[in-house]
Amino acid sequence: MNSKVLNVGKKDYQEEFKGKIIKIPAGGHIVMEFYDACAFKGTYPGKGIVKQIKVEKIPGTDKSPDLKVCNMCSSTFATEKELLEHSKIHSDSVAPEITEKKKAGRPTNEELRRRREMKNDTGTSAGNNKGAN
Ligand SMILES: [Zn+2]
Repeated sequence: MNSKVLNVGKKDYQEEFKGKIIKIPAGGHIVMEFYDACAFKGTYPGKGIVKQIKVEKIPGTDKSPDLKVCNMCSSTFATEKELLEHSKIHSDSVAPEITEKKKAGRPTNEELRRRREMKNDTGTSAGNNKGAN
């Protein structure tokens, strides 16, 4: 979110912040990212320097409510498309592995049932044959 950094003092204000010289004319303002603006407001300008800074959020520049959050890892994305693109990471790494294991290793319930039926069939038919003969 952007914010206005207002110089509510009567003198132009200048301060080096994050390696940049920030200049705000008296009564004027500059636009800065809100968190930066708060940090800027909180810095100590030096002895004898009057710092009268006000920070105002600029409505409509807040992106956070629209951010898409990944349920798996809590990463945030600006658009639904980006999130979908990202979520493939999770589905690719997890889902196919499980499917492969199922195919290769454990037999499915249906397979087990079929195997059991086959055993029963041979068992009964052998018994029937013996009995018949
Ligand atoms: Zn994720």
